[in-house]
Amino acid sequence: MSDPGARDGSKPRVGMMGGTFDPIHLGHLAIADDVRDALALERILFVPAGAPPHKPASEVTPVEHRVAMVAAAIADNPAFELSRVEVDRPGPSFTVDTVEQLAAAFEVTVILSAETFHELPTWHAPERLFAAARVAVVPREGYAATDPAWLSKTFPGREDRVTYVEAPHLGVSSTGIRARIAAGRTVHYLVPPTVAVYIADHGLYRA
Ligand code: ATP
Repeated sequence: MSDPGARDGSKPRVGMMGGTFDPIHLGHLAIADDVRDALALERILFVPAGAPPHKPASEVTPVEHRVAMVAAAIADNPAFELSRVEVDRPGPSFTVDTVEQLAAAFEVTVILSAETFHELPTWHAPERLFAAARVAVVPREGYAATDPAWLSKTFPGREDRVTYVEAPHLGVSSTGIRARIAAGRTVHYLVPPTVAVYIADHGLYRA
C-alpha cells in the first residue's frame, strides 16, 4: 500500500477542510483533528466557501458571519488556521480551483466525509483534484462507508491518492443546528462555546 502521508518534497503538509460552515460545528472540528493526527499533517486550513456552487445564495448566511464563526471555533488550536482563499475570490467556489491554488504553496490533503466523497463525480473537474492533492475520507454518521470497488471504478488509477481515516461518528449537521435554533432549542454541546455565543449575539438562525 502506498503511504498517503509520505512527503513529496519540502512544502508544508496541510489538510484542507472546506465547507459552508453555516455554522461550523463539533463534527467538522473532530474530523479535522483526527485527520491531522492520523496523517501527521502540520496544520489544517479551514476554508469557508464564499459562494457554494451547490447552494442558492439566499439560503446561505452572509459569508462574514460564517468566517467569524470559523475563526471563533478554531482560535484555541494553533494547528488550525482560517483561509479566506475562497471568500476573497470572486465567482463560484469550486474546490478544485482552491486546491490548485493551495497546492502551489502546500502539499495538500483534502478532507472529505464519505457523504461528500461520493458526490465527487458531480463536482467541477474532479480529476484535477486528484492531480493536485491527496484525499482523506472520514466517516459520516448515516452514510455508507466508501466501497474501494466504487473508487476503482469511478476514478481508476487514483486509489493511491485516497486514504480512509477513522474518526468519531458524530450525528451533528449544520442543518440540524439551524433547525434546533429556529425551534428555540439549545446547541450548547454541538458547537464550541464561542460559536454558541456568536450565534446568540448576532441572532442567527432564529425563525
Ligand atoms: P449542511 O447540513 O448545511 O449541509 P454540513 O453539516 O454538512 O452542512 P458543511 O459545511 O456542508 O456542513 O460540511 C463540510 C464538510 O464536512 C463536508 O464534507 C461534510 O460532509 C463534512 N461534515 C459535516 N458534518 C460532519 C459530521 N458530523 N461528520 C463527518 N463529516 C461531516
